[in-house]
Amino acid sequence: MTNKTPKAIFLDRDGTLIRDKNYLSRAEDIEYFPDTFAALKIMQAHGYRLYVITNQSGVGRGYFPLEAVHAVHAAMDADMTTHKLEPYQGWGICPHSPDEACSCRKPGPQMIQEFLQRDGLDPKLCWMLGDKEIDAACGINAGIQGAVVREKSAAGAHTYFASLLDFAKSLG
Ligand SMILES: [Mg+2]
Ligand SMILES: [Zn+2]
Repeated sequence: MTNKTPKAIFLDRDGTLIRDKNYLSRAEDIEYFPDTFAALKIMQAHGYRLYVITNQSGVGRGYFPLEAVHAVHAAMDADMTTHKLEPYQGWGICPHSPDEACSCRKPGPQMIQEFLQRDGLDPKLCWMLGDKEIDAACGINAGIQGAVVREKSAAGAHTYFASLLDFAKSLG
């Protein structure tokens, strides 16, 4: 029995792993960025566990049921196997609309903190990555590192990488 790896990278889904299709709810609409799997492969080669942390307010807004989100994620799990990668270690889903004022929606830290505790991860070695400032802020709020990838906002104050692959290549 090998020791559990204590470090992880938490990833936003829409606009980070796959293209943001504006309330995507069908597996056939999943479209990866060209560098997604190459980046994930480098991350896992460095010993990072991978998790997905996603706000899916389309559920709370009544656009699609939570079961549709699970179906999309099942397809994304299968894609990891297809690419000979380790499976995602967890899916953090906030299904609420912003006006529900829940405790899990990014940039709140709850979804990340639950995985840190559940899996005994070392916060100092963990990252949250996403295409929005709230993703990086979510990581900071959870006590881990945070960075924005792909989409740079003018007012952005967080660490930035032009692509997921650029981030992966920066790992020591
Ligand atoms: Mg996003
Ligand atoms: Zn929520």
